[in-house]
Amino acid sequence: MKLKYISDINPATGKVFAKIKCSTPKEIDRAVKKAREAQKNWGALSLAQRSRLLEACAKDFVREKENIGRLITNEMGKLYKNAVGETHAVAYGIRETIQQAKTALKTEMLQEENLVTELHRTPIGVCAVITPWNFPVSMPESLLSPALIAGNTVVFKPSEMVPLTGKAIYDIFNKHLPPGVINLVQGADEVGSYLINSNIDMIAFVGSQAVGKIIMKAAGDKLKRLVLELGGKDPMIVLNDADIDKAASFAVNASLRNSGQVCVSVERIYVQDKIADKFTKLVAEGVKNYRYGDGYDESAQMGPLVSERQRKNVIEQVKDAVKNGAKLVTGGGIPKNKKGYFMEPTLVTNLNHKHKIMREETFGPVVAVQKVKTEDEAVKLANDSPFGLGATIWTKNKKKGVELARKIESGMIGVNQGIGSVSGTPWVGIKQSGFGFIGSVEGIRQFTVPRKISYRK
Ligand code: ADP
Repeated sequence: MKLKYISDINPATGKVFAKIKCSTPKEIDRAVKKAREAQKNWGALSLAQRSRLLEACAKDFVREKENIGRLITNEMGKLYKNAVGETHAVAYGIRETIQQAKTALKTEMLQEENLVTELHRTPIGVCAVITPWNFPVSMPESLLSPALIAGNTVVFKPSEMVPLTGKAIYDIFNKHLPPGVINLVQGADEVGSYLINSNIDMIAFVGSQAVGKIIMKAAGDKLKRLVLELGGKDPMIVLNDADIDKAASFAVNASLRNSGQVCVSVERIYVQDKIADKFTKLVAEGVKNYRYGDGYDESAQMGPLVSERQRKNVIEQVKDAVKNGAKLVTGGGIPKNKKGYFMEPTLVTNLNHKHKIMREETFGPVVAVQKVKTEDEAVKLANDSPFGLGATIWTKNKKKGVELARKIESGMIGVNQGIGSVSGTPWVGIKQSGFGFIGSVEGIRQFTVPRKISYRK
């Protein structure tokens, strides 16, 4: 493999602060072999036994939240307070999985006259878990916990942008689980590619659509099972009768949070013509006042982008839009007084679907606004995308909002709010945003295969 070491760069300074050795093919093979050997015993434990061990991991995430929070901020630039919050929430995620597993993994005893069928939910085997950098503990947790609780063993490859955070996650799980149940490999695309083509049974992946498609192809040869979460291009629809202050404030925060590097951030806004000017003015104020800085700066609302490459992509999308007739209301540039990969919070208007920024994932601190005439036009444009992850609709007429929501081709839709939903429901994308889902009873069952044993009474 070409890349021998990952250079761990602090995006707030642009400086390399650590070098992490990439796993070799031999090491990856060994990790898979260890996972395979450990799987039988791990899968044979009772759910209560596995739950107890995972609960011990949950406690450690709370205990370690400041240390892991620092790693996250140093590696990918997220605000420290959010990084600590994310790590704390991992404990909640693990505990929710433990609870849901009681239903998800229960053996069902079915009977029809004197015919009995036992329906068992058995582990699939060895699962590769490959994750991105934008939520570097919560994304891994959302795949590791269901895979493990269901009795699978795991080979975990964190993103090459956050190798030390990945190692910290591995250390906690590995401290409490039997040897070989979780295994860590480090590296970028070559390591990921080697891993998905190795002797594993399942791939659970969160990342880009492009890599998701590579994974699905690779899975074909041995019919490896898949769970894929592949990002989105979430629309926000603001109707003439919306609460304009609330909608504008949501537009700003949901577009800029985590520097826009959120798979369910607002990526494109369709605002109806009667309120478009007023809405845009409010959004412009919000964007101009949005404070950015180092992740440890307590007054900052967002940090830098994760990498030079990421920033370049975002700035190119903005430039392309402006070159093709869009209006740059504010931002769009690189702040002069800062090192690292900062970008000014940006508002672009006068957009339409000829602009790349309305079609391709931006993943940056940009609010993108297009004016529309009718509700139907807004829905049509919202659905004019290969993605279908989240969406929001803003109108004081809740009934109409819910009716329109049913026409939106997305997995998670909020009416006058973000996509936050009742706990126990899955995180789910449709169309090319995903294949399978995360969380919930059904989500856990994806990491199992049903098997039946039948006999006469
Ligand atoms: P992002 O740009 O958001 O990190 P990617 O899809 O590029 O999204 O990366 C997500 C994860 O997939 C990372 O851990 C990355 O190393 C891994 N990855 C990248 N290319 C491949 C590949 N060809 N096969 C398997 N994993 C890959």
